[in-house]
Amino acid sequence: MGKFSLLILPGDGIGPEVMTEVKRVIDWFEQRRKIIFNVEEDLVGGCAYDKYGTPLSDSTMNKAHKVDAVLLGAVGGPIYEKLHFDKQPERGLLRLRKEMDLYANLRPAQCFDALADFSSLKKDIVSGLDIMIVRELTSGIYFGEPRGIEGHGDNRVGINTTRYTTNEIRRVARSAFELARKRDNRLCSMEKANVMESGVLWREELKYVHENEYPDVELSHMYADAGAMQLVRWPKQFDVIVTDNLFGDILSDCAAMLTGSLGMLPSASLGTLMDSGLPKALYEPVHGSAPDIAGLGQANPCACILSFAMALRYSFDKGNEATYLEQAVQNVLSEGFRTKDLIQASKGKEVSTSEMGDAIINNLEKMR
Ligand code: NAD
Repeated sequence: MGKFSLLILPGDGIGPEVMTEVKRVIDWFEQRRKIIFNVEEDLVGGCAYDKYGTPLSDSTMNKAHKVDAVLLGAVGGPIYEKLHFDKQPERGLLRLRKEMDLYANLRPAQCFDALADFSSLKKDIVSGLDIMIVRELTSGIYFGEPRGIEGHGDNRVGINTTRYTTNEIRRVARSAFELARKRDNRLCSMEKANVMESGVLWREELKYVHENEYPDVELSHMYADAGAMQLVRWPKQFDVIVTDNLFGDILSDCAAMLTGSLGMLPSASLGTLMDSGLPKALYEPVHGSAPDIAGLGQANPCACILSFAMALRYSFDKGNEATYLEQAVQNVLSEGFRTKDLIQASKGKEVSTSEMGDAIINNLEKMR
């Protein structure tokens, strides 16, 4: 019987709607599984700006540093688009990622059988797919110096720099090896060592960490362009993929679309180990605040619920409970429950956000 601290930041748009369903799931685990969560709730994004004049207050940031995990809904919305860059809702999210130093972004691409028709690929290629992409999140070309636009008139130059240190590569490599050990024990590292020195270093450091710390894990290397091709040719060949910030950005979106709807995709961002031995962690659905459907009861809560399942697995060391929750989601999809985003391409009964939450909780009860 553990007590885990969780900071919930529902955010804007559909964020609070999907988070309401997650809170019901958390209640279920407290009541039925006797897992005690110490939950605090706060503001991030546009709603934080409305109240505090900043998308993430210092007090919320301090809370984030202290808890076992942060669970975020979504931020943003059209009414905030004209704000100064520093005040925009997304800055709140970026501040969390930066100050918590969340360097390993985990993006699972899992295809639920009931949704296999949703994929743009053939059913047999995606059915049963379960891969994990680990993207380095705090370095590489998005942060490297020098950067900028120089020169004038017809002679301007746009500059960005890919830069990785040994430590930055080794720490994300360790996160990926650890994950592989908890899964099928296979890791594929992707870079462009054929044309980029940062890729050469990446490959050397992956080999170093492998030989010295994880010789039991099967490690392979692939150039990122070939990896992209293999992802759409035969994605099931992969277990865990680790790659840099830029390639990870592209490859994880590509892998996500193998599985269908944005409303189904969870994510985790992990950082350095805390005194508890667990990593600093932020869990969030991949989707945004979906202003086009906010307030209509149409949002799919599964991505956020599956993000909580990731928290159970990676922050609370409750892998069995995470699998249990994922199974409940899989069951309701097999039984034909569909929020609006899932209805077009596959048959089923259209349900609202809260009805999807009901169905998942009923399933958790049924499986007990
Ligand atoms: P979006 O993900 O919010 O929406 C894209 C499309 O997918 C919309 O049609 C939306 O209705 C649909 N959709 C998304 N999530 C869904 C769900 N759970 N259930 C059903 N349908 C869903 O992306 P966008 O429209 O490009 O951005 C909207 C706002 O969200 C912007 O302000 C953007 O900056 C912000 N955003 C935030 C995050 C984040 O908080 N991590 C991520 C992306 C975008």
